[in-house]
Amino acid sequence: MYADRIKHLPPYLFAAIDKAKQEAKERGVDVIDLSVGDPDLPTPAHIIEALNRAARDPSNHQYPSYEGKLAFRKAMADWYQRTFGVSLDPGKEVLTLIGSKEGIAHAPLAFINPGDVALVPDPAYPVYRTATAFAGGEPVVMPLLRENGFLPDLEAIDPAIAKRAKLIFVNYPNNPIGASADRKFFRELIDFARDYGIIVMHDNPYSEVYYDDERSLSILEMEGAKDVAVEFHSLSKTYNMTGWRIGSVVGNAEVVAGIGKIKSNIDSGTFGAVQDAGIAALQSPREVVDETRKVYRHRIEILYKALKDLGLDLEKPRATLYLWAWVGGSSIEYAGRLLEKAGIVVTPGVGFGKYGEGYIRFSITQPTERIEQAVERLEKMR
Ligand SMILES: *Cc1c(COP(=O)(O)O)cnc(C)c1O
Repeated sequence: MYADRIKHLPPYLFAAIDKAKQEAKERGVDVIDLSVGDPDLPTPAHIIEALNRAARDPSNHQYPSYEGKLAFRKAMADWYQRTFGVSLDPGKEVLTLIGSKEGIAHAPLAFINPGDVALVPDPAYPVYRTATAFAGGEPVVMPLLRENGFLPDLEAIDPAIAKRAKLIFVNYPNNPIGASADRKFFRELIDFARDYGIIVMHDNPYSEVYYDDERSLSILEMEGAKDVAVEFHSLSKTYNMTGWRIGSVVGNAEVVAGIGKIKSNIDSGTFGAVQDAGIAALQSPREVVDETRKVYRHRIEILYKALKDLGLDLEKPRATLYLWAWVGGSSIEYAGRLLEKAGIVVTPGVGFGKYGEGYIRFSITQPTERIEQAVERLEKMR
Protein backbone atom coordinates (compact mmCIF):
# COMPACT_ATOMS: atom_id res chain seq x y z
CA MET A 1 0.00 0.00 0.00
CA TYR A 2 2.70 2.46 1.00
CA ALA A 3 5.14 4.37 -1.15
CA ASP A 4 8.80 3.40 -0.88
CA ARG A 5 9.63 6.71 0.77
CA ILE A 6 7.72 5.75 3.88
CA LYS A 7 8.13 1.98 3.64
CA HIS A 8 11.84 2.23 4.27
CA LEU A 9 11.62 4.76 7.06
CA PRO A 10 13.06 3.67 10.42
CA PRO A 11 10.40 3.94 13.15
CA TYR A 12 10.37 7.52 14.41
CA LEU A 13 12.66 7.34 17.39
CA PHE A 14 10.28 8.74 19.94
CA ALA A 15 7.52 6.31 18.99
CA ALA A 16 9.74 3.37 20.01
CA ILE A 17 10.66 5.05 23.28
CA ASP A 18 7.00 5.78 23.99
CA LYS A 19 6.25 2.08 23.73
CA ALA A 20 8.97 1.06 26.23
CA LYS A 21 7.81 3.82 28.56
CA GLN A 22 4.19 2.72 28.30
CA GLU A 23 5.11 -0.87 29.11
CA ALA A 24 7.05 0.20 32.20
CA LYS A 25 4.10 2.30 33.36
CA GLU A 26 1.80 -0.67 32.96
CA ARG A 27 4.13 -2.63 35.24
CA GLY A 28 3.55 0.08 37.85
CA VAL A 29 6.90 1.88 37.51
CA ASP A 30 6.93 5.62 38.38
CA VAL A 31 8.62 6.67 35.18
CA ILE A 32 10.68 9.87 34.95
CA ASP A 33 10.86 10.77 31.30
CA LEU A 34 14.10 12.52 30.39
CA SER A 35 13.87 11.53 26.75
CA VAL A 36 11.97 14.31 25.03
CA GLY A 37 13.05 17.94 24.56
CA ASP A 38 9.72 19.57 25.18
CA PRO A 39 9.80 22.43 27.71
CA ASP A 40 7.65 21.72 30.77
CA LEU A 41 7.56 25.36 31.80
CA PRO A 42 4.34 27.13 30.77
CA THR A 43 4.15 29.69 28.00
CA PRO A 44 4.46 33.14 29.68
CA ALA A 45 1.09 34.64 30.60
CA HIS A 46 1.39 37.80 28.47
CA ILE A 47 1.70 35.63 25.36
CA ILE A 48 -1.44 33.66 26.23
CA GLU A 49 -3.29 36.92 26.83
CA ALA A 50 -2.18 38.19 23.43
CA LEU A 51 -3.60 35.02 21.86
CA ASN A 52 -6.90 35.49 23.70
CA ARG A 53 -7.27 39.00 22.32
CA ALA A 54 -6.17 38.02 18.82
CA ALA A 55 -8.53 35.03 18.67
CA ARG A 56 -11.47 37.44 18.94
CA ASP A 57 -10.27 39.52 16.00
CA PRO A 58 -12.35 38.51 12.93
CA SER A 59 -9.47 39.33 10.57
CA ASN A 60 -7.72 36.31 12.06
CA HIS A 61 -10.60 33.98 11.19
CA GLN A 62 -9.92 33.87 7.47
CA TYR A 63 -7.03 32.31 5.56
CA PRO A 64 -3.76 33.83 6.71
CA SER A 65 -1.23 35.06 4.15
CA TYR A 66 1.20 32.44 2.86
CA GLU A 67 4.36 34.24 3.87
CA GLY A 68 3.06 35.28 7.28
CA LYS A 69 1.89 38.64 8.59
CA LEU A 70 4.28 41.45 7.80
CA ALA A 71 3.95 42.51 11.45
CA PHE A 72 5.22 39.10 12.63
CA ARG A 73 8.06 39.10 10.12
CA LYS A 74 8.97 42.61 11.23
CA ALA A 75 8.92 41.53 14.89
CA MET A 76 11.25 38.66 13.97
CA ALA A 77 13.58 41.00 12.08
CA ASP A 78 13.64 43.39 15.07
CA TRP A 79 14.36 40.45 17.39
CA TYR A 80 17.31 39.41 15.20
CA GLN A 81 18.61 42.98 15.32
CA ARG A 82 18.35 43.16 19.11
CA THR A 83 19.63 39.66 19.76
CA PHE A 84 22.42 39.28 17.22
CA GLY A 85 22.87 42.68 15.60
CA VAL A 86 21.70 41.15 12.30
CA SER A 87 19.65 43.29 9.87
CA LEU A 88 16.92 41.56 7.89
CA ASP A 89 14.43 42.82 5.35
CA PRO A 90 11.10 41.54 6.73
CA GLY A 91 9.60 41.67 3.23
CA LYS A 92 12.11 39.36 1.54
CA GLU A 93 14.35 37.78 4.11
CA VAL A 94 11.84 36.43 6.66
CA LEU A 95 9.20 33.75 6.22
CA THR A 96 6.78 32.55 8.91
CA LEU A 97 6.74 28.79 9.49
CA ILE A 98 4.33 26.42 11.23
CA GLY A 99 7.16 25.56 13.63
CA SER A 100 10.67 25.23 12.30
CA LYS A 101 10.31 21.48 11.75
CA GLU A 102 7.77 22.28 9.04
CA GLY A 103 10.19 24.57 7.21
CA ILE A 104 13.12 22.20 7.55
CA ALA A 105 11.05 19.31 6.24
CA HIS A 106 9.81 21.28 3.23
CA ALA A 107 13.08 23.02 2.34
CA PRO A 108 14.71 20.15 0.38
CA LEU A 109 11.71 20.06 -1.99
CA ALA A 110 12.74 23.49 -3.17
CA PHE A 111 16.38 22.70 -3.93
CA ILE A 112 16.96 18.96 -4.29
CA ASN A 113 16.54 17.15 -7.58
CA PRO A 114 16.59 13.36 -7.57
CA GLY A 115 20.16 12.22 -6.97
CA ASP A 116 21.37 15.52 -5.49
CA VAL A 117 23.27 15.34 -2.24
CA ALA A 118 22.49 16.99 1.07
CA LEU A 119 25.22 16.90 3.70
CA VAL A 120 23.70 15.98 7.04
CA PRO A 121 25.33 15.67 10.46
CA ASP A 122 25.30 12.41 12.39
CA PRO A 123 24.14 12.20 15.15
CA ALA A 124 21.35 14.67 14.42
CA TYR A 125 17.73 15.65 14.55
CA PRO A 126 16.28 13.01 12.17
CA VAL A 127 14.35 15.47 9.98
CA TYR A 128 17.35 16.66 7.89
CA ARG A 129 17.90 13.17 6.61
CA THR A 130 14.30 12.08 6.05
CA ALA A 131 13.32 15.37 4.40
CA THR A 132 16.23 15.00 1.98
CA ALA A 133 15.17 11.45 1.17
CA PHE A 134 11.53 12.52 0.70
CA ALA A 135 12.72 14.95 -1.96
CA GLY A 136 14.56 12.14 -3.76
CA GLY A 137 17.97 13.36 -2.59
CA GLU A 138 20.84 11.45 -1.11
CA PRO A 139 21.74 12.34 2.47
CA VAL A 140 25.50 12.02 2.97
CA VAL A 141 26.61 11.86 6.57
CA MET A 142 29.13 14.16 8.25
CA PRO A 143 30.18 12.44 11.49
CA LEU A 144 30.19 14.67 14.58
CA LEU A 145 33.12 13.35 16.58
CA ARG A 146 34.26 14.31 20.00
CA GLU A 147 37.86 14.81 18.88
CA ASN A 148 36.61 17.56 16.53
CA GLY A 149 34.55 19.27 19.22
CA PHE A 150 31.46 17.63 17.68
CA LEU A 151 31.77 19.87 14.62
CA PRO A 152 31.74 18.41 11.10
CA ASP A 153 35.22 18.11 9.59
CA LEU A 154 34.67 20.03 6.35
CA GLU A 155 38.10 19.14 5.01
CA ALA A 156 37.24 15.46 5.28
CA ILE A 157 34.33 15.82 2.85
CA ASP A 158 35.15 14.25 -0.50
CA PRO A 159 35.29 17.08 -3.07
CA ALA A 160 33.35 14.88 -5.54
CA ILE A 161 30.52 14.69 -2.99
CA ALA A 162 30.76 18.40 -2.17
CA LYS A 163 30.35 19.20 -5.86
CA ARG A 164 27.10 17.21 -5.96
CA ALA A 165 25.79 18.75 -2.73
CA LYS A 166 23.01 21.31 -2.85
CA LEU A 167 22.44 21.67 0.89
CA ILE A 168 24.37 21.37 4.12
CA PHE A 169 22.47 21.11 7.40
CA VAL A 170 24.04 22.21 10.67
CA ASN A 171 22.61 22.83 14.14
CA TYR A 172 24.45 24.77 16.89
CA PRO A 173 23.84 24.86 19.80
CA ASN A 174 23.31 21.20 18.98
CA ASN A 175 20.60 18.72 19.73
CA PRO A 176 21.37 15.95 20.80
CA ILE A 177 24.98 16.73 21.78
CA GLY A 178 24.69 20.08 23.54
CA ALA A 179 27.81 21.33 21.72
CA SER A 180 28.18 24.91 20.50
CA ALA A 181 29.97 26.32 17.45
CA ASP A 182 32.30 29.31 17.41
CA ARG A 183 32.88 32.04 14.84
CA LYS A 184 35.83 30.18 13.35
CA PHE A 185 33.63 27.22 12.45
CA PHE A 186 30.89 29.36 10.93
CA ARG A 187 33.53 31.25 8.92
CA GLU A 188 34.92 28.00 7.51
CA LEU A 189 31.43 26.71 6.81
CA ILE A 190 30.43 29.80 4.84
CA ASP A 191 33.65 29.73 2.82
CA PHE A 192 33.18 26.02 2.11
CA ALA A 193 29.58 26.60 1.01
CA ARG A 194 30.62 29.46 -1.25
CA ASP A 195 33.43 27.43 -2.84
CA TYR A 196 31.08 24.59 -3.75
CA GLY A 197 27.84 26.53 -4.32
CA ILE A 198 26.05 24.86 -1.42
CA ILE A 199 23.18 26.37 0.57
CA VAL A 200 23.70 26.35 4.34
CA MET A 201 20.63 25.47 6.40
CA HIS A 202 21.39 26.43 9.97
CA ASP A 203 18.87 25.08 12.44
CA ASN A 204 19.08 27.34 15.48
CA PRO A 205 16.18 26.73 17.90
CA TYR A 206 18.44 26.75 21.01
CA SER A 207 20.18 30.09 20.52
CA GLU A 208 18.56 31.52 23.67
CA VAL A 209 18.96 28.40 25.81
CA TYR A 210 22.54 29.08 26.95
CA TYR A 211 24.15 29.11 30.37
CA ASP A 212 27.44 31.01 30.04
CA ASP A 213 27.77 34.75 30.16
CA GLU A 214 28.59 34.45 26.50
CA ARG A 215 25.49 34.24 24.29
CA SER A 216 25.08 31.87 21.36
CA LEU A 217 25.61 32.96 17.77
CA SER A 218 23.49 33.36 14.68
CA ILE A 219 25.32 32.27 11.53
CA LEU A 220 24.00 35.48 9.96
CA GLU A 221 26.36 37.50 12.15
CA MET A 222 29.20 36.37 9.90
CA GLU A 223 30.19 38.50 6.95
CA GLY A 224 28.80 37.16 3.68
CA ALA A 225 26.54 34.66 5.45
CA LYS A 226 23.46 35.91 3.66
CA ASP A 227 25.02 35.01 0.30
CA VAL A 228 24.83 31.31 1.14
CA ALA A 229 22.82 30.72 4.30
CA VAL A 230 19.43 30.70 5.91
CA GLU A 231 18.67 30.14 9.57
CA PHE A 232 15.66 28.45 11.11
CA HIS A 233 14.51 29.92 14.37
CA SER A 234 11.61 28.87 16.49
CA LEU A 235 9.60 30.25 19.37
CA SER A 236 9.27 26.70 20.69
CA LYS A 237 12.30 26.53 22.97
CA THR A 238 12.90 30.24 23.52
CA TYR A 239 9.41 30.98 24.87
CA ASN A 240 8.15 27.49 25.84
CA MET A 241 5.79 27.38 22.88
CA THR A 242 6.29 23.95 21.32
CA GLY A 243 2.54 23.36 21.11
CA TRP A 244 1.85 26.63 19.29
CA ARG A 245 3.69 25.75 16.09
CA ILE A 246 5.39 28.96 15.07
CA GLY A 247 8.87 29.76 13.85
CA SER A 248 10.61 31.29 10.89
CA VAL A 249 13.34 30.96 8.33
CA VAL A 250 15.49 34.03 7.71
CA GLY A 251 18.46 34.99 5.56
CA ASN A 252 19.18 34.60 1.84
CA ALA A 253 16.16 36.06 0.01
CA GLU A 254 16.19 33.58 -2.89
CA VAL A 255 16.35 30.61 -0.57
CA VAL A 256 13.57 32.04 1.58
CA ALA A 257 11.49 32.55 -1.57
CA GLY A 258 12.10 28.95 -2.67
CA ILE A 259 10.84 27.55 0.61
CA GLY A 260 7.87 29.93 0.38
CA LYS A 261 7.01 28.60 -3.05
CA ILE A 262 6.82 25.02 -1.76
CA LYS A 263 4.77 26.08 1.25
CA SER A 264 2.25 28.07 -0.74
CA ASN A 265 1.45 24.85 -2.61
CA ILE A 266 1.10 22.77 0.55
CA ASP A 267 -0.16 24.76 3.52
CA SER A 268 -2.01 28.00 3.98
CA GLY A 269 0.09 29.67 6.61
CA THR A 270 0.06 30.04 10.38
CA PHE A 271 -3.12 30.99 12.24
CA GLY A 272 -3.10 34.80 12.46
CA ALA A 273 -3.81 34.83 16.19
CA VAL A 274 -0.78 32.62 16.83
CA GLN A 275 1.32 35.08 14.84
CA ASP A 276 -0.05 37.97 16.93
CA ALA A 277 0.86 36.05 20.08
CA GLY A 278 4.25 35.37 18.49
CA ILE A 279 4.77 39.11 18.14
CA ALA A 280 4.06 39.51 21.87
CA ALA A 281 6.59 36.73 22.56
CA LEU A 282 9.32 38.30 20.43
CA GLN A 283 8.76 41.64 22.15
CA SER A 284 9.01 40.12 25.64
CA PRO A 285 11.27 41.84 28.15
CA ARG A 286 14.68 40.12 28.51
CA GLU A 287 13.76 38.91 31.99
CA VAL A 288 11.31 36.39 30.53
CA VAL A 289 14.06 34.38 28.88
CA ASP A 290 16.51 35.03 31.75
CA GLU A 291 14.06 33.38 34.16
CA THR A 292 13.77 30.28 31.98
CA ARG A 293 17.55 30.07 31.68
CA LYS A 294 17.95 30.23 35.45
CA VAL A 295 15.64 27.23 35.93
CA TYR A 296 17.42 25.21 33.24
CA ARG A 297 20.89 26.11 34.52
CA HIS A 298 20.05 24.70 37.95
CA ARG A 299 18.72 21.49 36.42
CA ILE A 300 21.81 21.08 34.22
CA GLU A 301 24.09 21.58 37.26
CA ILE A 302 22.46 18.93 39.44
CA LEU A 303 21.98 16.36 36.71
CA TYR A 304 25.51 16.88 35.37
CA LYS A 305 26.95 16.29 38.84
CA ALA A 306 24.88 13.14 39.35
CA LEU A 307 26.00 11.70 36.02
CA LYS A 308 29.65 12.51 36.74
CA ASP A 309 29.35 10.89 40.18
CA LEU A 310 27.88 7.83 38.49
CA GLY A 311 31.10 7.64 36.49
CA LEU A 312 29.70 8.65 33.11
CA ASP A 313 31.97 10.53 30.75
CA LEU A 314 30.44 13.82 29.64
CA GLU A 315 31.01 17.54 29.22
CA LYS A 316 28.83 20.21 30.76
CA PRO A 317 26.89 21.83 27.89
CA ARG A 318 27.14 25.60 27.42
CA ALA A 319 23.67 25.58 25.88
CA THR A 320 20.62 23.45 24.99
CA LEU A 321 18.38 21.23 27.07
CA TYR A 322 20.59 18.15 26.80
CA LEU A 323 23.36 16.22 28.47
CA TRP A 324 25.18 13.84 26.13
CA ALA A 325 26.95 11.11 28.04
CA TRP A 326 29.36 8.47 26.83
CA VAL A 327 28.37 5.08 28.22
CA GLY A 328 30.20 2.83 25.74
CA GLY A 329 28.65 -0.23 24.16
CA SER A 330 25.04 -0.42 23.11
CA SER A 331 23.12 2.76 23.91
CA ILE A 332 19.79 0.93 23.55
CA GLU A 333 20.86 -1.63 26.14
CA TYR A 334 22.08 1.07 28.51
CA ALA A 335 18.82 2.99 28.14
CA GLY A 336 16.92 -0.23 28.83
CA ARG A 337 18.91 -0.84 32.03
CA LEU A 338 18.34 2.72 33.18
CA LEU A 339 14.60 2.27 32.73
CA GLU A 340 14.67 -1.05 34.52
CA LYS A 341 16.87 -0.03 37.46
CA ALA A 342 15.87 3.59 37.97
CA GLY A 343 12.63 4.11 36.06
CA ILE A 344 14.37 6.83 34.02
CA VAL A 345 13.69 7.11 30.30
CA VAL A 346 16.50 8.51 28.16
CA THR A 347 17.19 8.57 24.44
CA PRO A 348 19.76 6.10 23.12
CA GLY A 349 22.29 8.00 21.03
CA VAL A 350 22.10 5.54 18.16
CA GLY A 351 18.58 6.79 17.52
CA PHE A 352 20.18 10.00 16.22
CA GLY A 353 22.47 8.13 13.83
CA LYS A 354 25.23 5.56 13.95
CA TYR A 355 27.82 8.04 15.27
CA GLY A 356 25.56 8.51 18.28
CA GLU A 357 26.12 4.91 19.33
CA GLY A 358 27.73 4.60 22.76
CA TYR A 359 26.09 7.79 23.99
CA ILE A 360 22.79 8.54 25.68
CA ARG A 361 20.92 11.82 25.84
CA PHE A 362 19.32 13.20 29.00
CA SER A 363 16.84 16.02 28.56
CA ILE A 364 16.04 18.49 31.37
CA THR A 365 12.48 19.35 30.37
CA GLN A 366 10.81 17.84 33.42
CA PRO A 367 9.84 19.79 36.55
CA THR A 368 12.85 20.41 38.83
CA GLU A 369 11.42 18.12 41.57
CA ARG A 370 11.33 15.27 39.07
CA ILE A 371 14.93 15.92 38.04
CA GLU A 372 15.86 15.91 41.75
CA GLN A 373 14.13 12.54 42.10
CA ALA A 374 16.04 11.26 39.07
CA VAL A 375 19.26 12.45 40.70
CA GLU A 376 18.39 10.51 43.90
CA ARG A 377 17.74 7.37 41.90
CA LEU A 378 21.03 7.79 40.03
CA GLU A 379 22.84 8.20 43.36
CA LYS A 380 21.39 4.88 44.51
CA MET A 381 22.82 3.22 41.40
CA ARG A 382 26.41 4.09 42.36
C1 LIG B 1 12.98 21.40 18.81
C2 LIG B 1 13.80 21.36 17.58
C3 LIG B 1 13.33 21.90 16.38
C4 LIG B 1 12.00 22.41 16.04
O1 LIG B 1 11.12 22.83 16.73
P1 LIG B 1 9.74 23.43 16.20
O2 LIG B 1 8.88 23.22 17.38
O3 LIG B 1 9.29 22.65 15.02
O4 LIG B 1 10.03 24.84 15.88
C5 LIG B 1 14.18 21.93 15.28
N1 LIG B 1 15.40 21.43 15.35
C6 LIG B 1 15.88 20.89 16.47
C7 LIG B 1 17.25 20.35 16.46
C8 LIG B 1 15.09 20.82 17.62
O5 LIG B 1 15.57 20.24 18.71
